[in-house]
Amino acid sequence: MPEPSRFPAPRKESADRRRTRRQQEGIAYGAHPLTVALTGPLGIHPDAESSGRKCGNCRFRELIGHHTRSYPKCTVDRGPFSRTRAYPDAPPRYSAGSGTDVRQWWPACPDHEFGDNALSPDAARSGPADAYTAE
Ligand code: SF4
Repeated sequence: MPEPSRFPAPRKESADRRRTRRQQEGIAYGAHPLTVALTGPLGIHPDAESSGRKCGNCRFRELIGHHTRSYPKCTVDRGPFSRTRAYPDAPPRYSAGSGTDVRQWWPACPDHEFGDNALSPDAARSGPADAYTAE
């Protein structure tokens, strides 16, 4: 009887790769990718696709420096909360782990606000609709 052929061992999936896969699968069900790291569900903005709203053009996505690197985090002041907040006063969706790193390409959540987080919050929000008019 011939020796049974050896099947290749199944590929092991790293924790990061598994999380990325779950995040991508969740989008199809209307779950924002950050949901995987939060204590409750976070939806996708209803106009995310039609208006081009993404985390990458949201004023709440900030690059937080730590030692020699920086990490893209959501700094909005609303829940749902991270399962492992970085410190007690940290923004709700912020942890020290890679699970709360916010990718630019992610579709926006309902809290999205267009803006450049390198500007002050007021400047980031300004636009023709709320432009200052002198009396
Ligand atoms: S779109 Fe939502 S999750 Fe993404 S950075 Fe903005 S507030 Fe955070």
